[in-house]
Amino acid sequence: MSDSYKVLIGGQWVDGANGAFDVKNPATFETVAKCANASSDQLEEAVVAANEAFKSWQYTSHEERKKMLNAAIDEIQEKRDEIAALIVAEQGKPFPLAIGEVEGGIAWARYAASQDIPVQIIEDSEKKRIEAHRKPLGVVASITPWNWPFMIAVWHILPALRAGNAVISKPSSLTPLSTVKLVEILNNHLPDGVISIVTGERGMGSGITGSAGIHKIVFTGSTPTGQSVMRNSADNLKRLTLELGGNDAAIVMPSSNVEQIAPAIFATSFLNMGQTCGALKRLYVHESIYDEMCAALSEIAKQQVVGNGMDEGVNFGPVQNADQLNLVADLVEDAKARGASILSGGEKMAGVGHFYPPTIVANIENDAPLVQEEQFGPALPVIKFSDKEEAIAMANSVDVGLCGSAWSADIEEAQAIASRLECGTAFVNTHAEIQPNVPFGGCKMSGFGVEFAEEGLLEFTSIQVMHINK
Ligand code: NAD
Repeated sequence: MSDSYKVLIGGQWVDGANGAFDVKNPATFETVAKCANASSDQLEEAVVAANEAFKSWQYTSHEERKKMLNAAIDEIQEKRDEIAALIVAEQGKPFPLAIGEVEGGIAWARYAASQDIPVQIIEDSEKKRIEAHRKPLGVVASITPWNWPFMIAVWHILPALRAGNAVISKPSSLTPLSTVKLVEILNNHLPDGVISIVTGERGMGSGITGSAGIHKIVFTGSTPTGQSVMRNSADNLKRLTLELGGNDAAIVMPSSNVEQIAPAIFATSFLNMGQTCGALKRLYVHESIYDEMCAALSEIAKQQVVGNGMDEGVNFGPVQNADQLNLVADLVEDAKARGASILSGGEKMAGVGHFYPPTIVANIENDAPLVQEEQFGPALPVIKFSDKEEAIAMANSVDVGLCGSAWSADIEEAQAIASRLECGTAFVNTHAEIQPNVPFGGCKMSGFGVEFAEEGLLEFTSIQVMHINK
């Protein structure tokens, strides 16, 4: 395939029936590439082709599937730098972080490719044997967001294929290019129709939820869109994994060593310019170390080099799109109007590019929108507390629950606090560490279902129990 970014249907690359749309670089506003604008008829063609491919793909042996997927992963490894440059161009993150995204994708892909699918023996007595088998579901649609476009696509697609499903990928139209590249590589090693991709400016998501030929949707994105996916998937009872928004809290207890933990807190809050589902987004600090923590964080913020992710020395890129930039800017303006102190940043940067410097907001009340809403960008509110119970209540006062953390020199104390946080993953003296062999998912309005590990793989299967009368 050339760099024309077509759609892949039944193993064939074709132009979008509705023409093409521009993918823009958030640092320069230049057009990176044109991408196919598919029609709903083309989506249905992909669904038909995927169902046809599934008929034989589901019966390929585990060894064959592992071999094909590993061959594709070898090709990803060879093209690592090319993919990373594409991620910087469409998403904005600095090149070293984009390399990390591809390397992370490779690590997750290798893990998924090597996973075994267990047969559970429930009973094996003289007269009967009962086994629980796992079968693929059919056609899985993967709908992905714009923040980690390549890695999240890997998280969805690789385990779905490993389990024996055919997959249709639908990336965000803001960042489709690195996902097209991933699909191109996978398609080089898989039978026609086992992997497809449809890109489009609008209508693709609702087409997927409405299609009777799609059996599961794995969705990562915002809570409102996830709710819409759930509502619209009822007709054929699609299975769903919903990885939705978060608003992660961290509670820092008085015994913490501020100098030691401030760099880790900054790194996890501003990972990918804060555009990370499991980034630390609300920091509750005990009053005895509050000023020291605010000073340490704003000092680190001022040292960041903001700019185009391809430029040497830049470690802080743009926000990916204008809507997100305006959301962050508006939340910070509102905080200022409420009397909060801006210790670093706090204004959009002039000139070309969606740039917003890392912003530390102090002396802010818990009910401010910057605290209560997911800012998903480079602005961190730091809230003062005097009592542990009050801090836990504030941490649990939002309707989402992805990750949370407690920080203290006393690990037992921190663990006791972390265990009371309403979230899918709780951390002690760290935040947002993920790995392929550990299940990850949210509670409350952050969604349901998990990714990674055996639990994540099994979400792409249904159970078939077999009773054998001996
Ligand atoms: P979004 O919800 O706007 O879009 C996500 C995807 O859904 C895109 O591909 C979009 O085109 C598609 N879509 C839009 N309307 C649809 C519809 N009606 N039906 C089906 N699909 C539709 O999210 P975003 O702005 O791209 O991403 C940011 C959000 O994603 C944040 O809230 C963030 O917390 C969340 N997120 C969560 C996780 C997690 O693991 N929990 C990871 C990354 C991002």
